[in-house]
Amino acid sequence: MPKIPISLQRIVVERAKGYCEYCQLPAAFSASSFNFEHIIPLIKEGLTTLFNLAYSCGGCNAHKKDKIEAPDPLTRQLAPLFNPRTDKWSEHFQWSEDNLHIIGITPIGRATVNRLKVNREGNVNLRGLLILANLHPPSL
Ligand SMILES: [Zn+2]
Repeated sequence: MPKIPISLQRIVVERAKGYCEYCQLPAAFSASSFNFEHIIPLIKEGLTTLFNLAYSCGGCNAHKKDKIEAPDPLTRQLAPLFNPRTDKWSEHFQWSEDNLHIIGITPIGRATVNRLKVNREGNVNLRGLLILANLHPPSL
């Protein structure tokens, strides 16, 4: 993994407002470190540019690996994974009524929820605590 210049890192964090661009976990309340994720992976000739970088929690990054598409669990057809640079979060995801779970509402959304496991137990538990502190869901 090539080193990402600090100047780029700063812009990526600011652009994401400190939240994972996939599961919206806030870095400020995460025990694990966040990553500067290549949306199109380097092995698929993705570049280390602002347009190809996303701020991602360690969990989403680990589950995404080098994938850019995954099956939509509803149709079983391959769908592109959510791209924070070209896709709008609210067009592909919504919060469950209790705000604990992310629900995919399009093939992209469902494939991403499933592949990145955005409703991991730790995420759901943290969302529950953040709700009690009036810090969730984030207003991004
Ligand atoms: Zn995440």
